[in-house]
Amino acid sequence: MRLKICILASGSAGNSIHVASDTTDILIDAGLSGRQIEARLGTIGKKVENVDAVLISHEHSDHIRGLRFIDKKTSIPVYLNSATSRAVKDRGFPLSRARIFTNNSPFTLGDIRVTPFSVTHDASDPVGFAVYAGEVKISIATDLGHATHLVKDMLRGSHAIVIEANHDPRLLRDHPRPWALKQRIKSRQGHLSNESAASLIEEVATEKLQAVFLAHISSDCNRPHIGIEKISRSLARLGFGETAVIATCYERPTGVFEISADNDGGGAPARYTDKETLQGTHIEEE
Ligand SMILES: [Zn+2]
Ligand SMILES: [Zn+2]
Repeated sequence: MRLKICILASGSAGNSIHVASDTTDILIDAGLSGRQIEARLGTIGKKVENVDAVLISHEHSDHIRGLRFIDKKTSIPVYLNSATSRAVKDRGFPLSRARIFTNNSPFTLGDIRVTPFSVTHDASDPVGFAVYAGEVKISIATDLGHATHLVKDMLRGSHAIVIEANHDPRLLRDHPRPWALKQRIKSRQGHLSNESAASLIEEVATEKLQAVFLAHISSDCNRPHIGIEKISRSLARLGFGETAVIATCYERPTGVFEISADNDGGGAPARYTDKETLQGTHIEEE
């Protein structure tokens, strides 16, 4: 089996990830306007009415902005845990088709299995997701201040990982932001730096890993090439220099990557269908 993944948007302005098996389409987070969700799905040949489920990681507005559209204009069910569901409603968003999951309890959407797992972040009950189709595993952890043992366990053995590489510590230090905000970002409830993401990848990468997507890259306090370099170096140290490292951004979707277990053991890069979008984002180690 295979999974296709496209990061429609990622960053503090909005996050949404499209994952599809041959028969099931899901969106992880809906932090874009309805118009943007439709337009960006359109760029990869998808329609919002064919999305089978929207999964929500936590209630921050960059992850739920499109829920009003999803609720009013579509019939897609929204999967989230009960604390996040309460927090979303408290923020004034309608949730007429909420499907409540329990953290660490797998559930099925067509031929896709999902295990939501707890992460540390300053929201009610934030989660990451491990998404499986047959043997293929993609794990997604954005918005986490610190990688717990549970997070490492969930990421290990993935064929693709979407991981936050939010900031460069030096750029964050020198940026004229309020001290309290910087402390929040750096805290164990905040966001992962490039360095933390790189050492996490070093701990969890196996020869199965085909692609690492760097998510939630700060536009003020990071540069995509810094994160790509750090993570690529970590992978090369492990002998996984073939693994693709892809920076994501808010402004435009990545290409569509097909992740299949056929590449197991070869460490081959994921195949992509949109070379245009990806130019300059795939760094080959020498
Ligand atoms: Zn957040
Ligand atoms: Zn966020």
